[in-house]
Amino acid sequence: MPTATFTNFLDRARTVSDLRAASSLLHWDQETYMPDGAAAVRAEQSATLETLTHQMATSGEYAAMLETVRQESERGELEGWEQKLVEESHREFERSRKLPDEFVREMSRAQSLAHHAWRKAREQQDFSIFAPLLEQIVGLKRQAAEYFGYAENPYDALIDQYEPGMLASQLRPVFDRLRKGTGELLQKIADAGTPPDDSVLFTDFDPEQQLAFSKKIIQQLGFDFNTGRVDLSAHPFCTSFGSSDVRLTTRIFRDDLRSCLFGLMHEAGHGMYEQGFAPQLVRTPLAAGTSMGIHESQSLLWENMVGRSEEFWQWAFPEIAGTFPDRLAGFDSLSFFRAINVMKPSFIRVEADELTYNMHIILRFEIEDDLINGRMSVADIPAVWNQKSQEYLGIVPPNDSLGCLQDIHWSFGGFGYFASYTLGKLYAAMFFNRATEQLPDLRQQIARGEFGSLLGWLRENLHQWGKSKNASQLANDICGRSLTETDFLAYLDRKIERVYGKG
Ligand code: ZN
Repeated sequence: MPTATFTNFLDRARTVSDLRAASSLLHWDQETYMPDGAAAVRAEQSATLETLTHQMATSGEYAAMLETVRQESERGELEGWEQKLVEESHREFERSRKLPDEFVREMSRAQSLAHHAWRKAREQQDFSIFAPLLEQIVGLKRQAAEYFGYAENPYDALIDQYEPGMLASQLRPVFDRLRKGTGELLQKIADAGTPPDDSVLFTDFDPEQQLAFSKKIIQQLGFDFNTGRVDLSAHPFCTSFGSSDVRLTTRIFRDDLRSCLFGLMHEAGHGMYEQGFAPQLVRTPLAAGTSMGIHESQSLLWENMVGRSEEFWQWAFPEIAGTFPDRLAGFDSLSFFRAINVMKPSFIRVEADELTYNMHIILRFEIEDDLINGRMSVADIPAVWNQKSQEYLGIVPPNDSLGCLQDIHWSFGGFGYFASYTLGKLYAAMFFNRATEQLPDLRQQIARGEFGSLLGWLRENLHQWGKSKNASQLANDICGRSLTETDFLAYLDRKIERVYGKG
């Protein structure tokens, strides 16, 4: 039996969670169906709701309730998941209290100015338009790091927002080895000679058929349409208002078969994580992905390890060839698998393949670390970017819009965010390896279009925990190891053999 004070506290946590879900719903609507003319009033409505939520989650009354249940927790009067809820609520509360109100307002003003300047700079391919605003953002982020506190590196305090507990000093050696390993694999590809022909992916595919096919695929993977749905938006995303209502979006390009299909498999991976939290976590802060990197591991596991595998297309190629018979004539499952796995350096991160993608992240990670630590100035970004791009990818962007101005993240102060994308890739490979060991028949199952035991394995080992286990606990509990790049590099080495090999 939970204590009476815990029950009251849980009630309050659920109210806050409901308000947050309502905010997310407003946001989802804004990105999908809201008419343009509603933008200004919607912004007010969202701000009102967020202010109310913030007040409720930081009030003196809430602080007192939290303190009481923390004492109960310390005295051992709460169950395991109840303790975790109190711990997580306390972490959130402390974090939100550390930034003074005036600082939050200043940050938000700087963000909206910087966002505006970034858009203009990118349009006009002129970094100098963005530079002074970015300078201000970097200064504010350094200050935020001081408010949050850190042991060795101010950048750690920023990474912690997305990857609780992760340190730059833990990431650096992993990223260094990953960079070296990626370079070796790129060399292997170059030595292989002619790349596979992927022109078939860029012909002309009916949008409605693309969407219908992609929805059929994610349903087969295990995305539950009874508690989820799919709509269109300019930028694909996944949001949820609790495990019983998960919204995915995708976009469709007539002349690129990959975007809708792999985009939706990716978002469905996020969505199945959200659909899998244990029932007692519902409407609490524990019903969330435990870190950005772990969330990303779930989308990438389904998109890449499953959806871009040779076995998957042994099952799915006849399906897609039946949907687009005149377009895919002359292809078979192996040549199609090769076409969707072509790897080569390119300028734009979001369009990069599995292998070269991480070079884009490592470059950003190193620049961020240097900026936050004052080892580099904002003015140096374009030159450093181009020099690292040459060194890591062997190409130099012809202008800053294809280089250091391509991403939105710095304009909203998202320092520390990028690393999570690569962490997602590394964790995905570790988890998939472990699943393959524990489900020896897994590859054959995938080749038959059967995904239930993989999803069940993920539910049991990972999804159900939500935030009650952190990323390093999950890695250790599931794989018996902490973060490593070796599984990922070995996975790509095998794939490159199949994509670029002669057999
Ligand atoms: Zn994602």
